[in-house]
Amino acid sequence: MNTIKNIEKKCAVCGYNYHYQKLYNDETFGMRDLDTRPPGIARTFMHLMVEKCPKCGYTNYDIRQILIDFQKSELDDEHYQLILNNANINFALKKFMLIALLLEKRDAKKAGMSYLRASWMADDSKDTTTALKTRSKAIHFLELSLKDEDNQNIRLIIVDLYRRISMFEEAYDYAKYLYDNFGMEDYKRDILQYQMQLCLAKDNLDHTMLGNYSPIVKNNN
Ligand SMILES: [Zn+2]
Repeated sequence: MNTIKNIEKKCAVCGYNYHYQKLYNDETFGMRDLDTRPPGIARTFMHLMVEKCPKCGYTNYDIRQILIDFQKSELDDEHYQLILNNANINFALKKFMLIALLLEKRDAKKAGMSYLRASWMADDSKDTTTALKTRSKAIHFLELSLKDEDNQNIRLIIVDLYRRISMFEEAYDYAKYLYDNFGMEDYKRDILQYQMQLCLAKDNLDHTMLGNYSPIVKNNN
């Protein structure tokens, strides 16, 4: 069952009380996109994942939680304020851009995933410039995160990010490198083979996992 509830929460930075909406979602039908973007209600209401205090502008996945070593001056940072006060940025996109910025120096993986989500919001608001920028930032931070901890799923996301910003050679070479060297499970190898096909076709569009997959016919002669 899917339910959206209003919850009153207190901002961890300024103490302001405000009602935030939270999605309770225990069923998801359909196929995820190649970059793990979920289908259905989780897709529609993804913007509820990030909470932004209407008073001080702080953002977090839970507004009641303070980020590690957080300084109030981070909210006054020029770059943060530029995004916060830019009336042209879609509200959902803005929230993910702000939390990604706060996470940059704290957690490369979470920052990268936040930039990835920001790119989805940019896609939805047809903001192609920001979609490109946030995907490039997602690649940077997700690659950085692999230095701390290897993660095959993150590597698969990076392949898709390169392809979506039309860096087909990089995406193809990376997919082939993973395919040849990582001993991944069959379904992941299928995804990589699908990515290689899309790269050869110079296809930078959004695709679901194996949604249009057609296995390469092997010639055994
Ligand atoms: Zn606040």
